[in-house]
Amino acid sequence: MTRIAFIGLGNMGGGMAANQAKAQRQILAYDLSKPALDKAQAAGCTAVGSIAEAVKDAEVVITMLPAGQHVRAVYADEILPNAPKTALLIDCSTIDVESARVVAAQAKAAGFRFADAPVSGGTAAADAGTLAFMVGCEEPDFAAVEDALKPMSRVTLRAGDHGAGQAAKICNNMVLGISMIGVCEAIALAEKLGLDPVKFHEIASQSSGQCWSLTSYCPWPGPVPAAPSNRGYEGGFATALMLKDLKLAQEAAAKSGAAAPLGASAEGLYALFDRMGGGGKDFSAILQMMRGRIDEL
Ligand code: NAD
Repeated sequence: MTRIAFIGLGNMGGGMAANQAKAQRQILAYDLSKPALDKAQAAGCTAVGSIAEAVKDAEVVITMLPAGQHVRAVYADEILPNAPKTALLIDCSTIDVESARVVAAQAKAAGFRFADAPVSGGTAAADAGTLAFMVGCEEPDFAAVEDALKPMSRVTLRAGDHGAGQAAKICNNMVLGISMIGVCEAIALAEKLGLDPVKFHEIASQSSGQCWSLTSYCPWPGPVPAAPSNRGYEGGFATALMLKDLKLAQEAAAKSGAAAPLGASAEGLYALFDRMGGGGKDFSAILQMMRGRIDEL
């Protein structure tokens, strides 16, 4: 039985660890949050009291943490000093490319195999085991990474060497942030024009306005039952995390000399929504700002 240390059991990591346990893998789970640990235990994982304990005899270590600073600290202070050198280390968090490369270099220098493997698909896909993984790793390590991720994945693609998975993720999420705002603007306009937003969803889903934000994650409650819009925009992908990703994209654009003006606008609008109190809500809740109904959140 594959022995996996799973660190970070939040909105995404909780469902991902549960799917690993369902696949009969032995999961030693750790999170700073007690409710997250209890939930993992109920889903078939073994909750442990520290990262050192989780990684001690691990064959695979998977991290699903909020941002670059958490990943850097957890790897330097806890994982690299305590895991066996044979362990395959996989970070599934969305972080900046530079942090991914720094952690990869530290892991390699210490004798480990490492992959950055951020995900796309949201909490519904995390729960269903149908995430898309984009992987940055050395070519010979990819087969082992793909196998380790299998119970959580619909598709696993190697983007290139260390950091390439994060580059793919940041570009993907810039598309997502921009497209969600576009869908929200259109729904708010449809409503003003007296068009039922549910009817608009039905029509645009079968027309050229079709996109993931509309058809798989509709910000208007009703048409997509699994979307966070049906549960008061709780859970899902927090606005604060989307804002983090859009900032990462802008920093990367500035450093590389790329032009990303719509990404900059999306970052500005999410920053405004965050300041209005939307930071903890799912990112599709920006619809309420576009409708001028922030009080309904
Ligand atoms: P989350 O805030 O729900 O979960 C993060 C978890 O990490 C929390 O439970 C927190 O207690 C834990 N944590 C923080 N520091 C820790 C430490 N030092 N040791 C152990 N646990 C620690 O966030 P999430 O929504 O699960 O997102 C996780 C990552 O996945 C982020 O990088 C995010 O950008 C990315 N992501 C999220 C989604 C989504 O839809 N939520 C989709 C794709 C990617």
